[in-house]
Amino acid sequence: MSEAAEKLAAVRAVITQAARSSGRTADAVRLVAVSKTQSVDAVRALLDAGQTDFGESQVQDAMRKIPLLNGLGLHWHFIGHLQSNKTRFIPGNFEWVHTLEKEKHAARIAQAAQQAGVCVKLLLQVNVANDPAKQGLHSNEVFAFIERILEQQLAGIQLRGLMSIGRRGAGEPETRATFAGLRELLESCRQRFGGEFDQLSMGMSNDYAIAIEEGATMVRVGTDLFGARK
Ligand SMILES: *Cc1c(COP(=O)(O)O)cnc(C)c1O
Repeated sequence: MSEAAEKLAAVRAVITQAARSSGRTADAVRLVAVSKTQSVDAVRALLDAGQTDFGESQVQDAMRKIPLLNGLGLHWHFIGHLQSNKTRFIPGNFEWVHTLEKEKHAARIAQAAQQAGVCVKLLLQVNVANDPAKQGLHSNEVFAFIERILEQQLAGIQLRGLMSIGRRGAGEPETRATFAGLRELLESCRQRFGGEFDQLSMGMSNDYAIAIEEGATMVRVGTDLFGARK
């Protein structure tokens, strides 16, 4: 087994175990391999091992890699801080954006998506813990934000759920509470806005097992799959 395949198998084993303890199976959780700063060869090694979802946090860096891996069935997720002048590069390159936090970005992505003839799936980044060091909407802003986007009836985008980042250095109880809070917020969104709100992106290398136990449908794992970033 290649080193990449071994790392992937280890992460998948953790996912299977954590999914089971939340009464689900591993296929209810999508593993997004966070390949930011990693080489195309490193992505290819994981792809050869069977991994197809990859996450990038810088549009420019991603756009060097994505064309080189074209036609191989990869699904790209944008997980970084969105900038207005980069939104037009999202459609056609990324299927998912996990980090929407500005209304105008939804409209810009929608417009570019229509031109490209694609649909981009969006998650709202929520700062559940109201951590001043974090990006994202506060929990109490989420409903109004969604309402304003839905009102515009934008073609080319689909709001699908919520994303959050656990506080670095937080202990397990705090991490668990943060993730449970996001799950409750998603449930409220689903009651209010309908079944399309079905995605919960939470959990990174240091806390993805906890995130899955608390209901994550997507985990974003970099270090545990690729090793430490340079
Ligand atoms: C870098 C990054 C990750 C992956 O972090 P690891 O600790 O390496 O697993 C996940 N989510 C976001 C938003 C990131 O920026």
